[in-house]
Amino acid sequence: MNSEKYSRQILFPPIGAQGQAKLLDSRVLILGCGALGTAQANALARAGVGKLRIVDRDFVEESNLQRQILFDEADARARLPKAIAAQRKLKQINSDVQVEGVVEDVDHRNIDELARGFQVILDATDNFEARYLLNDVAVKLALPWIYGAVVASYATTMTILPGSTPCLACLFPVPPEGAYETCDTVGVIAPAVAWVAAVQVTEALKILLDRPQELHGALLAYDIWKNQYHQVRPRRDPGCRVCGAREFAYLNRTGPTHTRLCGRDSVQIHAAVPRRLDLAELAARLQPFGRVRLTEFLLIFAVEGCELTIFPNGRAVVKGAPDPAAARGLYAKYIGA
Ligand SMILES: [Zn+2]
Repeated sequence: MNSEKYSRQILFPPIGAQGQAKLLDSRVLILGCGALGTAQANALARAGVGKLRIVDRDFVEESNLQRQILFDEADARARLPKAIAAQRKLKQINSDVQVEGVVEDVDHRNIDELARGFQVILDATDNFEARYLLNDVAVKLALPWIYGAVVASYATTMTILPGSTPCLACLFPVPPEGAYETCDTVGVIAPAVAWVAAVQVTEALKILLDRPQELHGALLAYDIWKNQYHQVRPRRDPGCRVCGAREFAYLNRTGPTHTRLCGRDSVQIHAAVPRRLDLAELAARLQPFGRVRLTEFLLIFAVEGCELTIFPNGRAVVKGAPDPAAARGLYAKYIGA
């Protein structure tokens, strides 16, 4: 171990040399690599957490740079997938750490496999559906996970230890109804992200160092602009459908989730059955119909006033379509359903 590199945190008694060795041998899964995920990954890699798997479906855009701290303008110009850009940056930050960037949309079909073998999961997703799915898999596999959410200047977090603390469904049995505020509608400031990521990472370190008695044990909320801080101590719901009855509705869902909204004017489409696209061949085929740009990881195709970003597994993000049906129509027409 290069103890000079970690000397300042080895001096911190709860870590020490033994704790550092433990961290270098630890495995953390980060779901999402936007504002929260980049802040978490940055801190964990610098702390010397031995293995990080980072899963994200998106590519870097200019509007990300204000808060997504691992990315730069060159990444946005290259439209690098976030998981790849993060992996490259983190390897420069700390070569001790094994970083695996996975360009995938996390869903009920793949989350179990992605999560197995990890000690703690950090929530860096941006929607309730993904968090309920994460809660299901964490309770099923008895893996600790750390909820975190941020919008505007307001952030919330809670640490879930299946079997001992309340789970997400104990607190919120059903997702909030109606439209809720998102970063796409009311924005977000980087300091609010930094606060919640810092709390999540600290909790993760306590779990990895086997110090559960030092976890904060609360649902924390902080508005960093208004300086309003709240914490409540939630209780387990004995009738909870997830950690009580062990019904994993989000994990065991059937039926297709081929289309969903992501962001303000984008629709994501999955291939109905898994496929492998030859993007170079597809690029040549689409050339006559619109503007085509092929990178190492994806294909961007501008046509009919919309922009399709196509990944090798057949997933596509359609930007600018008036509705999901129109987006699906473009997908069927140019990529083939
Ligand atoms: Zn529960």
